[in-house]
Amino acid sequence: MNPWGSVNPAAPACSLADVMSEQLARQLDEENNTFPTLTEPGADLMLSGEVPDTTSDLMLAQILQMQFDREFDDQLRREEKKFNGDSKVSISFENYRMVHPYEDSDSSEDEVDWQDTRHDPYRAEKPQTTPRKGFTGKGKNITTKHDEVNCGRKNTARMDNFAPEVHVGDGLGMDLKLSNQVFNSLKQHCYSEQRRSAKLHEKKEHSTAEQAVDPRTRLLMYKMVNAGVLENINGCISTGKESVVFHADGGSLEEQPVPDEVVLKVFKTTLNEFKNRDRYIKDDYRFNDRFSKLNPRKVIRLWAEKEMHNLARMKKAEIPCPDVVVLKKHILVMSFIGKDHVPAPKIKDAMLGSEDMKNAYYQVLHMMQQLYRECNLVHADLSEYNMLWHEGKVWLIDVSQSVEPTHPHGLEFLFRDCRNISTFFQKKGVSEAMSVYDLFNTVTGLQIPVGAENEAEFMAEIVALEKRNEDHVQKRRKKVFPFASEDSGPPLEPDADD
Ligand code: ADP
Ligand code: MG
Repeated sequence: MNPWGSVNPAAPACSLADVMSEQLARQLDEENNTFPTLTEPGADLMLSGEVPDTTSDLMLAQILQMQFDREFDDQLRREEKKFNGDSKVSISFENYRMVHPYEDSDSSEDEVDWQDTRHDPYRAEKPQTTPRKGFTGKGKNITTKHDEVNCGRKNTARMDNFAPEVHVGDGLGMDLKLSNQVFNSLKQHCYSEQRRSAKLHEKKEHSTAEQAVDPRTRLLMYKMVNAGVLENINGCISTGKESVVFHADGGSLEEQPVPDEVVLKVFKTTLNEFKNRDRYIKDDYRFNDRFSKLNPRKVIRLWAEKEMHNLARMKKAEIPCPDVVVLKKHILVMSFIGKDHVPAPKIKDAMLGSEDMKNAYYQVLHMMQQLYRECNLVHADLSEYNMLWHEGKVWLIDVSQSVEPTHPHGLEFLFRDCRNISTFFQKKGVSEAMSVYDLFNTVTGLQIPVGAENEAEFMAEIVALEKRNEDHVQKRRKKVFPFASEDSGPPLEPDADD
């Protein structure tokens, strides 16, 4: 396939009589055409002497489009005239025109332009143009404006009118003669490329905006600024798979001051990110009766709600973690861990000296015990990525997925947390860091035997324990569990809009 369309073999220059007879033949051909309506759009081309190639669907489509665009532009010109009337100051509708400058290039104004620029010393001579009468020469030497060679050169010169970013080369210099068909294909290609690149750009811009927040979320954020809860939303701290975190300046909420610096954790409402995480919430008895009744968008809000309640429990146990400011649907506002717009580093990036690292390890060990015993929680995503180092302390964040130890997989999650912690601190050279098994037993107070480092055996014990737990919980579930009464999080926002 030739992307430029098939090239007509260049015919030698011929006399007016020949041209006429050839046209007659094509015209007759046209009349026999079984698609009478399709000749209509090309009518103006026919008038101007160029016979459209009606055998090509592409060509027909292009002719139709051009015809449509021209009609649109004519209408636009009429509107423009009407709009401006006799006014001395006129407003141009030029930008709304459909037909590109080069699409219109076969208008007579263009020919005048070429004559004006013919003596550009840096360009090869532009082709001779044909006067309005339609031919040059006398007697036998008449050349019409349809002369193939002239037309070809003219088309080559017209490529100058393509958009500046299209490299057309020095066609004139090499005396290139483009047939109408090839020229039209090139023109169309260049036009569609331009539109494609504009579209791509638009798409890119759209996706960047989408990646941050959707319009609903933007509105919610705007409302918080409007209500004075926030002074200003500054910028994005992190874009994760499940959330986007923004830094903001705090205002005041119900007469109470909000911390100077806060973060907005926006839980992503693109649901596919969350589909793997159902099990954290579906099997959490605290959300049990609610989960089944909710539409997917509301399930996302449960994540935010869960983080809020878990943070409240941690606060009660005095574990260093962000203070909850307010929860609005899927946006959780909490205090900023860091200073002067600079967030505290994750512990993996904190470049701690060995003494600090050892210190951090003991803090984490203590926090894991507190979390398990006092908060009745397992972090379930504990690692060097979800601990920040700030003012000589380890701060725990990202607790939306945290569950109670009696969750059907709670102990498995805890085992995974233990493995992350012990691997990280051992790698950082903390010789006191316990093995994953010892850490698990220390945190839980269980005494699962640690036989020859056999993980399978250890895990089997854990799963058996979970099973026993589950049976126990099943019995308790029959009673109604007053959710939230044990937590002292801020009140939930009522669902106003859906
Ligand atoms: P995700 O579920 O996307 O991992 P996180 O709660 O872990 O969400 O937040 C992502 C990142 O945002 C964190 O690694 C941390 O750098 C930053 N961050 C989150 N909460 C705070 C906060 N309260 N103060 C400072 N930085 C925060
Ligand atoms: Mg995280």
